[in-house]
Amino acid sequence: MNRFTLPRDLYYGKGSLEFLKTLKGKKAILVLGGGSMKRFGFVDKVLSYLKEAGIETTLFENVEPDPSVETVMKGATAMREFNPDWIIAMGGGSPIDAAKAMWAFYEYPETTFEDLITPFNFPTLRTKAKFLAIPSTSGTATEVTAFSVITDYEKGIKYPLADFNITPDIAIVDPELAETMPPKLTAHTGMDALTHAIEAYVSTLNSPFTDPLALKAIHMVFDYLPDSFGGDMKAREQMHYAQCLAGMAFSNALLGIVHSMAHKTGAAFSTGHIPHGCANAIYLPYVIQYNAKNAESRYADIARSIGITGSDAECVSQLCEKINEYNKKLNIPATLKEFGIVEEEFLEKVDEIAKLAVGDACTGSNPRPITPEQMSQLLKCTYYGTKVDF
Ligand code: FE
Repeated sequence: MNRFTLPRDLYYGKGSLEFLKTLKGKKAILVLGGGSMKRFGFVDKVLSYLKEAGIETTLFENVEPDPSVETVMKGATAMREFNPDWIIAMGGGSPIDAAKAMWAFYEYPETTFEDLITPFNFPTLRTKAKFLAIPSTSGTATEVTAFSVITDYEKGIKYPLADFNITPDIAIVDPELAETMPPKLTAHTGMDALTHAIEAYVSTLNSPFTDPLALKAIHMVFDYLPDSFGGDMKAREQMHYAQCLAGMAFSNALLGIVHSMAHKTGAAFSTGHIPHGCANAIYLPYVIQYNAKNAESRYADIARSIGITGSDAECVSQLCEKINEYNKKLNIPATLKEFGIVEEEFLEKVDEIAKLAVGDACTGSNPRPITPEQMSQLLKCTYYGTKVDF
């Protein structure tokens, strides 16, 4: 038996934030990130709309990027004190991810992260509150997904949480919030969305329910990302929807080894963090070459859906070309070397990273299995820019 889960309601379009005026409830806690939503006036808007709805509201602010266990626990305590029947999370991926975990600890104070990390093993939520998500970036799609990532900085581990219980009840996809993204973030999050859709389409868990969402998202990213990057707000709006469609696909079909590699290399090198979407964009064409042995016709479907013609093999290689072309347009490097990772450090760490990447939660649904040795070889290809021929 399979399951396909999405939010019950999705409000979209410019000004759709106004839906909050008609939200039914008594008390809401608004979970926020570092302050950009306040600066751009969106917090005031939300507060006045909720007041109009007759909902008493409190704020939980300053959720950091890559939210911590401590922040989650603090938020859950604040929720237990205030007793909201709505959790409203607004901002980039981080406040929304953090609020999802706070929700679980709000409803089940006795639970632990160790209990929660077993995939699809959450206790039943919604006994105290429902969840509404409002994204301000166009990439993670956490407003529609069953996922959240929380970091334990003390233990140096990330807890990937996955369960349809944390798929939000309502998502408000208002493109006005995404208009505030700087170009670099637009490029990285846009390529993250493309990776979500492509990985979902070739995933071993792909289905007739996820395929159309993935293909439409891919088509839209290729159509709109360069202009969105260039500051065209009509294109920016379409990207906000495209990333959401990609999220609906990958929340149900899961991902693949592009994400495994990005997760384990993001914070691995002393030269600095590799932003998630940037890492995905670098790895994607190499992983397509590797996976094509098992999923050539699926990648060819993708290529044909964006107007590429030829044999399956030709389609796959032109799809890789096209991704390289977009990376160039978006100022994304073609290799880890070009990104600035030092060769010595890379070679020293690559085997350990490869092992960790193979063990990542996203590897299981990749269309072609991979050993740590193959992963190490693949990572070397992404460092030097060599063709994947194994
Ligand atoms: Fe991602």
